This record gives sequence, structure tokens and C-alpha cells, in this order.
Amino acid sequence: MENNKKRVRTRYAPSPTGFMHIGNLRTALYEYLIAKSQDGDFVLRIEDTDRERYVQGAEEIIYSTLKTVGLNHDEGPDIGGTYGPYIQSQRKEMYMPYAKKLVEDGKAYYCFCDKERLEKLRSEGSNEEYGGYDRHCRNLTQEEIKSKLNAGIPYVIRQKMPLNGTTTFKDAVFGEVTVENKELQDQILIKADGYPTYNFANVIDDHTMGITHVVRGCEYLSSTPKYNLLYEAFGWEVPEYIHLPLIMGKNEDGSISKLSKRHGAVSFEELVKDGYLPEAIVNYIALLGWCPKDNNEIFSLEALKKEFSTDRISKSPSIFDYDKLNWFNSEYIRKMTAEEFFNVSQPVIKSFIGEIKLDCKKISEVLHQRVIKLTDIPNMIGFLKELPDYEKEIFINKKSKTNLENSLVVLNRAKIELENLKDWNHDEIHSLLINMAKDMELKNGTVMWPVRIAISGQTMTPGGAIEILEILGKDESLRRIELAIKKLI
Ligand code: GLU
Repeated sequence: MENNKKRVRTRYAPSPTGFMHIGNLRTALYEYLIAKSQDGDFVLRIEDTDRERYVQGAEEIIYSTLKTVGLNHDEGPDIGGTYGPYIQSQRKEMYMPYAKKLVEDGKAYYCFCDKERLEKLRSEGSNEEYGGYDRHCRNLTQEEIKSKLNAGIPYVIRQKMPLNGTTTFKDAVFGEVTVENKELQDQILIKADGYPTYNFANVIDDHTMGITHVVRGCEYLSSTPKYNLLYEAFGWEVPEYIHLPLIMGKNEDGSISKLSKRHGAVSFEELVKDGYLPEAIVNYIALLGWCPKDNNEIFSLEALKKEFSTDRISKSPSIFDYDKLNWFNSEYIRKMTAEEFFNVSQPVIKSFIGEIKLDCKKISEVLHQRVIKLTDIPNMIGFLKELPDYEKEIFINKKSKTNLENSLVVLNRAKIELENLKDWNHDEIHSLLINMAKDMELKNGTVMWPVRIAISGQTMTPGGAIEILEILGKDESLRRIELAIKKLI
């Protein structure tokens, strides 16, 4: 296993919580990029040792999200690999021997304190000095331990922290971090149910899976010295640590705080449901803590693989800015081909217009360059489904040189001409209206404005008069023009 250390191996180690938080996805992305930018392996490991937090079916969400965004792992529970199993609960038997070895070496100890005692300690607040546990069982004699074990008293195994000195580790982003050992708690390595804690399992797994780079959120910075002491106790090489900055959200009053639901969607699934494209989400979160060399901000996953480097990860918190994500999303939408956009917009259009017979393809065409996110579509095309109630004053428009009188004249004429139009298609409608303007000695806009208002009932529409006439079809267009005429008389 040791000779594998040369090859870069990263791991994404989510707990199956049932959703993919943006921070977790960013971790996965950076792990993937670090591995792939150096021809390494990207491993997926499911950390399910916290059985109380286990959510049924949560693994599926992890697999499907990684697949959707293209973070394809080289090893994992679903595809296997030489270092498996890749689900911690299936590795359960592996951890105890390592813990026992630490006990033998005097780096860990059995603790028989029961819940009541620990609870009492907590309520008395007498445990603060030791950061959580008063080390009651740390110095039990061999006989005491043996007799308690023989009596079948439930136990946990705790790490024996040094009582003085300091522990230092180097982080690629945060630099050298030193802590006083006396501040470290004698943390639990093996729980009473025989399962390892995350704090123990991650070290054993990272080592036995040959992981060279450990990427995780900076909330783990304070735990890393404890992991380091474990590596040292086993005489193992410490992996490279890369802690990522916090992701914050903007509050209404302008202040910032850790990103949470009150700021908006915080999981990948929610963002997709909100109408964001997976590619845009990935591109945006790549920049949440990493800064490219030049001003370019648009990166495909392939481009990120080439550009990404750990030394450009920042330690200052990054702010999740939904406006910026909107910008990315609209950029990605605009870059799609008409067909690609049709494929993603059609289901939204269809479910909104329901039974009404309108040409989804044409609607998709007028929306394409204007949509910011897919969920905006229903609002943008509401007028196609049903003519909104509107004030006749919106026929008045300075730029188009329209007023209530000339709008009425234009609409009366347009009604007659459109009624006689045989082929209801874009080109025919276009030449009809242009010729009409010429014939009436009016600017094109003076014709287009009242027609568009009449058929949409609003001043802003995706697409102009011609496109909307074409989409609505002859009968509905004429019905709407007649209604407008009635309004203007
Ligand atoms: N299972 C941990 C979590 O989901 C992973 C932390 C790590 O990457 O080591 O937060």
C-alpha cells in the first residue's frame, strides 16, 4: 500500500444525509479536480458510521448527483475497486484491531463511563477543562480493565491525548496550524455499538485507501491535530491537507453568515429544481474559494481540470451570490444550441401550457436568449396561455410614436389584413406588417407596438409582434386584436 502513495489519490467522503449541500459538492469538485489535474484517482467513500443520522436511499442521491455533474469516480461502492469496501459500515470489522493496537501502545484506552456519569459531568460543567471528558478511565489499572471487560461492561475506546506540548500540521490553504495538546479532548475512537467514530474511521480509511490529499471544509481544521496524532501513533505518512473556506450567505441587512436555508436554496437538488443548469452550478461553485489566473470565469469541467491548482484556493470565506449564479446560468443557456435549449425548456413549457395547443418549439426559440433560469419560463409566457387584463394607456409609446388614436387605426387595418392572410407563418406575417406600415406611411414600430400590445396585453414580451402572432395562431390573434379594438373605441 505504501508504494501507492506516489499516485495522487483523493476521496470524496460524504455522509448519507439525504441531500447534496453546495459545500459538499464543492468539496467533491475540488477533490476531483486535484486528482484529475494530476492524472490521479478520485475515490468515493460513504461515511455512514453515524447510524442515528442515516437516511434511507441517501446513497442514490450521491451517485446521481455526481453522475449528473460529471464527477465520475474511479472507485466506489457502486463500482468497486481494490481498496473496498467503500461504505464505512461494511468496513466495521477493520477498525477495532487498529484501535486495540493503539490501546496496546498506550495511545488509547478503554472507557467504561456510562451515559449517566457523562451526563452528570456535562450538567455540572466540570468537564470544560478537558474539552468534554474528565479522563476518568484514562488511568485504570490493567486489573480494573480486565475485570470490567470480563464483566461485559459496555465500553468505548478513547484516544489518549498528550497532556502537554503542541501539535502542528501544515495545511495547503491555511498554512501552519499549531494547537496546545492540553486543549485536545480524549475523543472517542470506537463507540459502544462497536462502530468507529468518523474521527477515527476517516484516518484509518484514508490511510488504508492510499489517499494522498484530504480535502474538506475548514470546520474540520480544529479536528485535524487529533487526526495527525493518530497518524503519528501508527507511524503513518500524513496526507496533504486542503481545508476549504466557509461558504457564507448575504443577509438582508447586508451582513453575512454561514450559508443556510434562509439565504435560499442550499442543496444541488434544490438549485436544479429552482431552474439552474448543473453545468452552471458546477462552474459557479468552482469559483467559491478558488480563483482562476485571468479574468475568465466560464469554465467547463474539462477546462477546470487544466486550470485548477491548489495554490489559488483562498482561505477567506466566499459568499454565495445568487445573482452571480443567475448570471452564470443565463450565460450557459445562451450558449446552448436551439435544440439543446428546446430539450431542457420543453418540459417546463409543456407542463405550463397544459392542453392548449401552442408550438413549444417556437416558444422555446423566443425564450432562448432571454431566460435566466428555467423556472422563470411560466411567468414569461403566462400571456400566451391567457391574455392578461391591461390598461389601454400602454398603447401610448413615445419611441414607437403611438397614441390611442393611431393604435386604433393600425389595429383596425391589421385585423382586416391578417384575416385575409392565407399562410400563417413568420415570413408572411412579417411582410404583411412591413408592407402595411409602408402603405400607411408609418414607422414599422408604430405598427408593431400596438399589435404586440393587443396580442400580449403587456409591454415586455419574449419575442416581438411577429413571433407572438405566429405562436398564438390566427384565431387567437384575431380574437385578441378585436378585444383591443373594443378597448380603444
Ligand atoms: N463525512 C464527512 C462529511 O460529510 C466528510 C468529511 C471529510 O471529508 O473528511 O462531512
